[in-house]
Amino acid sequence: MNRQIVLQSRPAGAPTPANFALVERPIPEPSDGEVLTRTLWLSLDPYMRGRMNDAQSYASSVPIGGVMVGGTVGAVVASRDPRFSAGDIVLGSGGWQEYAVLPGASLRKLDSALAPVSLYLGVLGMPAMTAYVGLLDLGRPREGETVVVSAASGAVGSVVGQIAKIKGCRTVGVAGGPDKCRYVVETLGLDACVDHRAPALAEALARACPNGVDVYFENVGGAVQQAVWPLLNQFARVPVCGLIAQYNDETPRPGPSMWSVLRKRLSVRGFIVSDHADRLDAFLHDMSAWVREGRVKYREDVVDGLEHAPEAFLGLLQGRNFGKLLVRVAS
Ligand code: NDP
Repeated sequence: MNRQIVLQSRPAGAPTPANFALVERPIPEPSDGEVLTRTLWLSLDPYMRGRMNDAQSYASSVPIGGVMVGGTVGAVVASRDPRFSAGDIVLGSGGWQEYAVLPGASLRKLDSALAPVSLYLGVLGMPAMTAYVGLLDLGRPREGETVVVSAASGAVGSVVGQIAKIKGCRTVGVAGGPDKCRYVVETLGLDACVDHRAPALAEALARACPNGVDVYFENVGGAVQQAVWPLLNQFARVPVCGLIAQYNDETPRPGPSMWSVLRKRLSVRGFIVSDHADRLDAFLHDMSAWVREGRVKYREDVVDGLEHAPEAFLGLLQGRNFGKLLVRVAS
């Protein structure tokens, strides 16, 4: 028999053991192109909390009664895909169960002589890949900059912090409790670690980042995010990787939703026009033509006399202008 953990009910807020059930079903048979695997290692990851909800996300929910999803390393028991044979060790998405039938095309063969195979679910797997692309491609850390990473002792954060050190950054972790913070500094080699469970988080973080923050690798959201935000330097980058502190929220938090930023992969970037003076020639070339051709329309709202400038300006802040507000000072 195949023992499986299925989703028994959807959580309201924090999940409880009652949301899961252990069931036994017959071990399935593979069809053509499929492989039966016996699970050796199951990865547990924060994203699984989202799969327990019925809400629309970047991945579909687990149905009630469905086997909980999850990355696995398994041993091939029987194969109807010519690329695999019994005894092969494979990486796949077998879920929370002892046996899984999986499409051969979804599996990757692992060489246990190269590394302990469990590492392919961690430091050689999805969490570390997340750290690698999130930090290097989105965070773009430069030598001498300050990088802050939350959940710094975890699967993703520990790799982010260490890559940031390899890239020559001052690297500050945020983690929960003194043991995790000691590990982050003494074992992972980060420059400092701030305990988000201790009082005065904002002050401690400011002390650890005397030159502000150039990259904040966001893993948690919530109070840690609020403490980091005022320290962000001009042109700082914030790869929004995870918001674990908010996964049990039942109602949206006020303000723009960071969850939308994450789920929809939004790019939200402030800009000041004066940083883009190199675009002036292109702008004048295109806009002159569009105005001349009537493809761009404009409207001016003209106030006569300098003495009316204050009143007109106050009106602009209340929407009384209609079009580009100008004062005709002299004709
Ligand atoms: P971790 O190994 O870091 O485990 C989760 C950690 O999050 C906990 O140990 C805890 O660390 C921290 N945490 C939990 N609740 C809170 C809270 N309320 N406030 C602050 N910290 C909290 O998990 P991963 O490394 O696998 O994942 C880290 C983040 O990356 C998650 O948000 C996850 O969803 C995200 N992720 C995103 C991916 C993507 O493709 N965008 C892919 C993989 C992961 P502590 O005790 O230090 O607070």
